[in-house]
Amino acid sequence: MKFELIKLNYDFNGLKPYISEETMEYHYSKHHRTYVDNLNKLIEGTEYADMALEDIIMKSQSGPVFNNSAQIWNHNFYFENLSPLMNQVPNLKILNLIHDKWWGYDQFKAEFNKMALSNFWSGWTWLVMNDNWSLEILNTSNAVNPVIMKEKKYVPLLTCDVWEHAYYIDYRNRRWEYMENFWKIVNWRKVEERMG
Ligand code: MN
Repeated sequence: MKFELIKLNYDFNGLKPYISEETMEYHYSKHHRTYVDNLNKLIEGTEYADMALEDIIMKSQSGPVFNNSAQIWNHNFYFENLSPLMNQVPNLKILNLIHDKWWGYDQFKAEFNKMALSNFWSGWTWLVMNDNWSLEILNTSNAVNPVIMKEKKYVPLLTCDVWEHAYYIDYRNRRWEYMENFWKIVNWRKVEERMG
């Protein structure tokens, strides 16, 4: 199986002014493409060659095959949870879960931003649902994602890429400003779909 870049359902300039066309071009056409090209090369003629992406992630667990397959998964997940239809708000089902845990939507966003800012590594900040139907915010490093945390039975709902390549062209070292603006382009309709 040859992996391909995910098809975006918005243009590179669709997330402006919060994420520039230049960032999208580099992030999607260079960084994301490199993971896809690397994985295709790495798995050719190996036991991974005919496996689905999530199976490759689960089986490899670490090393180059894991890093590249997980980064493809993470970027697909990230690009899909962004939308040019800006300033969306979560539906009542998600808002209720947010209120159960953090009291309010603003408090939740502040908590998520705090986690993202404290993620020391190149990594990802996630909103997940645990098997008690309760929401949690997680940080992961490098390519690690909730897919490999099998025993936790997390349903990943939303992610923010906090590798510097995701924001450095637009925000330089101001990760906090990237995080503030991230909420304006979250695709809550996609998050709802992931919740099932
Ligand atoms: Mn990235």
